[in-house]
Amino acid sequence: MEHKNLWAPWRIKYIQGLSESSECFICHNLENPDDDDKNLVLWRSNLCLVVLNRFPYNNGHLLIAPARHIPDLDQATDEELLEMTKLVRESQKALSLAMKPHGFNVGMNFGRCAGAGLPEHLHIHLVPRWDGDTNFMSVCSDTDVISQSLTELHELLKKISKEHNLPGL
Ligand SMILES: [Zn+2]
Repeated sequence: MEHKNLWAPWRIKYIQGLSESSECFICHNLENPDDDDKNLVLWRSNLCLVVLNRFPYNNGHLLIAPARHIPDLDQATDEELLEMTKLVRESQKALSLAMKPHGFNVGMNFGRCAGAGLPEHLHIHLVPRWDGDTNFMSVCSDTDVISQSLTELHELLKKISKEHNLPGL
């Protein structure tokens, strides 16, 4: 069976939860710095937040968001846009050191019809890719495995960040 798209069955929990929860998880994370480990927050910079996606398309999927609850690039300041872009760069460094991906997808979704799970709070997706990674994800589709690997990856990325002074902004 040949799949070009990533198969991420655990995301059904996320999709089902969308209608139940109206809270913005990025703002929630921002307001609860004591829970950064639990919430898988990797970095807090002056204007932005970097967090592991709890419902990843692939192992190492990060979200980069401005601290301000704004939906569109229109409302973002030049400073915010610059910092977000630099954080994409720094996140790629950290993921490269941690996981040695063969490539990355970087993207943004605007509006639910375009796949945005959180259309009201701007964020950039950074998804590491490996040759043949569809096969890898098929064997890791169990949600417990995913959540355990997220915690371990968060710890690893924190350690690497400390060793390499990331993010260098
Ligand atoms: Zn928000």
